Amino acid sequence: MTELLAHQDAYLKEFEATVIAINPEENAIALNQTAFYPEGGGQPYDTGWLDDSPVTKVKRQGGEIWHWIEGKLPAVGTTIHGKIDWERRHKLMRTHTAFHILCGVVWRDYAAQVTGGNMDLLKGRMDFEFETLRQELVKEIEEKLNAEVAAARDIRVKVLPREEAFQIPDLIRTKINLLPEGITEVRTVEIEGLDLQADGGTHVANTREVGTIKIVGYKSKGKLNKRIMLEIET
Ligand SMILES: [Zn+2]
Repeated sequence: MTELLAHQDAYLKEFEATVIAINPEENAIALNQTAFYPEGGGQPYDTGWLDDSPVTKVKRQGGEIWHWIEGKLPAVGTTIHGKIDWERRHKLMRTHTAFHILCGVVWRDYAAQVTGGNMDLLKGRMDFEFETLRQELVKEIEEKLNAEVAAARDIRVKVLPREEAFQIPDLIRTKINLLPEGITEVRTVEIEGLDLQADGGTHVANTREVGTIKIVGYKSKGKLNKRIMLEIET
């Protein structure tokens, strides 16, 4: 099992770890703990370095988090120094939080539920059941998003027992009930006063860290389903 240090501290940039497994065919290694975020929940993986070897991809496979590296594989049991590409990760954190702001605003003011989404560095898309979305609303939503950035809301991460999490109406709305049976704890990410979700991603500590959000487009994906495309200014 790999402990994901990014879950406790999204701002951790460097760490020490022990190699617990290697995969010579893939040139990948698994560590006992890591600050590297593996792909998941719409958020792309981190890149960076393990000692002097560049890390090009990170994925969770079962209980382990695997790091694809360039260069020679270390032996199992070796202590290794990890350093994530912070410039990339911080942009992904800003992007992920921007999408939670969008979810929060669209639910609070239009009662539209999110159905899916995907993000990349400082941009991405999110799909909603949002029948009434039209051009005039887009500008209005964009202004509301930036008002939430300016409101400097704190973001809080908690890990709750499953039963406790299932009592929270906001979490039920975000389809927490789809979580697999075996999961005993639920990690939640709350933008104070705006949005609460079960979430495994990394987020900034305050909405003002996101920066200016732009809605760069929207698309009708049928009568009910609408897609909103965002970009965040560098
Ligand atoms: Zn999320």
